[in-house]
Amino acid sequence: MSTELAKKPSLYAVASDVATESSLNEQQDGNATQPSVCSACSGTGWEFVVDKGVRPCRCRNNERRAKLLADAHIPKLYSESSLQTYQPSKGNLSQLRAFNYAHTLVRDYPIVERGLLFMGSVGIGKTHLSVAILRGLIEKGISCRFYEYRSLLKEIQNSYNSNTNTTEMEVLAPLFEYEVIVLDELGAAKPSEWVQDTIGLIINARYNEKKITILTTNYFDERRALTDETLEDRIGVRLRSRLHQMCRTVLFEGADYRRGLDVQ
Ligand code: ADP
Repeated sequence: MSTELAKKPSLYAVASDVATESSLNEQQDGNATQPSVCSACSGTGWEFVVDKGVRPCRCRNNERRAKLLADAHIPKLYSESSLQTYQPSKGNLSQLRAFNYAHTLVRDYPIVERGLLFMGSVGIGKTHLSVAILRGLIEKGISCRFYEYRSLLKEIQNSYNSNTNTTEMEVLAPLFEYEVIVLDELGAAKPSEWVQDTIGLIINARYNEKKITILTTNYFDERRALTDETLEDRIGVRLRSRLHQMCRTVLFEGADYRRGLDVQ
């Protein structure tokens, strides 16, 4: 049967028609110079395996990954951030430990009980590592989304404005749907009852659904100087306590990475 099938040009004959049609469309659109048709399946979505038959083509996975990556809204600034490009500073055990937690989470997901809360001063790679986790999970086909704390709160606030087209639920829904989210710079917005309630609602809903959340913050649990605000001051006692339950706190030490770039 296998040799019979191999002799028949069925799959490839259909595929080359599809390819021709789509290349024609692309030429007419004037949007593309190269036809982007998969060489393994010629656009059919089915890959022919000699002596075995057909199977869903690997390009379907690539397409899905590309879609997941686009949906994740990773800021352009972090387009190169991955576990591969993360380099812990020499001899910095806290950064090495943080890397290990990130790596383990990606490796073990979905058999993971808790998310991570990266805590440390500015520019030491907390966001880089969070984005690296998203990228690693997207490679595994997991739906992920990056949120910046202040922008998210602004977006929710804007949804109350009758002139905007989005409703509060439209802004909030994805926060409950994505399997894994990053909430970057927790505590960065001016604390208020509304901020604490809103973030509390999001975090609690995800916790109840056993969804993994990765957070970063520039605030610490202890006051390092007399005038410092703690994370608890910024997000409230209840939310800080909830985060102890749902995330492992990973303390980062080190100097601002950007300063090092400045002296090259
Ligand atoms: P934070 O979130 O802690 O403020 P970022 O993750 O934004 O810091 O890091 C600042 C910049 O330095 C980013 O461009 C990031 O990619 C880079 N960076 C920081 N730490 C590392 C690291 N260990 N390896 C590679 N790049 C790093």
